[in-house]
Amino acid sequence: MCFEEIEDISMYNFIHTESELCEKCFQSLRARFINFYVGDVKVLAVYNYDDTIKNLIYKFKGCYDYELKNVFLERYLLYLRIIYAGYVIVPVPSSKVDDEKRGFNHVEEIFKTLKLPMLCVLKKEVKEKQSSKSQKSRTKIDKQIIIENKEKLNGKKVLVVDDVYTTGATLYKAISLVKSASPKKVHALVIAKTIDLDKRNKKNNIS
Ligand SMILES: [Zn+2]
Repeated sequence: MCFEEIEDISMYNFIHTESELCEKCFQSLRARFINFYVGDVKVLAVYNYDDTIKNLIYKFKGCYDYELKNVFLERYLLYLRIIYAGYVIVPVPSSKVDDEKRGFNHVEEIFKTLKLPMLCVLKKEVKEKQSSKSQKSRTKIDKQIIIENKEKLNGKKVLVVDDVYTTGATLYKAISLVKSASPKKVHALVIAKTIDLDKRNKKNNIS
């Protein structure tokens, strides 16, 4: 993250010689492990969507800094592999056009580091741009996610993954599609969660 050579040999870096994070960068990330629910599905967010994470995701996803794919989960891989052992990963999709422009799918790359089986059965349908359509219906089309080969999820324990949880609408849609495939169990894991909108509104009212 900082482009400096790792010189501060912490116990972690001493054991994990392949580590790509120096102690300073690791400390700046401040993982929170926030548990919450979308419907009856348990969701875990590793970080708060603070400025550090926001910048890091932007560099990775928006500036195509592919090498950052490992830093999000690096220190928690063992823990996450234990709690999600036996799960198959289903990433929330981006549009094909965006993935092609970027050269990789950012969500898939982050969660590949977990080394769990991954099934990319959710697809985002191509954005339809028609000036005749109202803003409302355009927004609806932009968000359209579909499921393909859903029989692959039948009886499986599924972990739906995404980068940022904002309103929860996308994750909710992805979870409903996964549930329609009769999985054994569904959980979700996201990199970062934005501050609760209700809480933010309350704060604004006070100030
Ligand atoms: Zn660093």
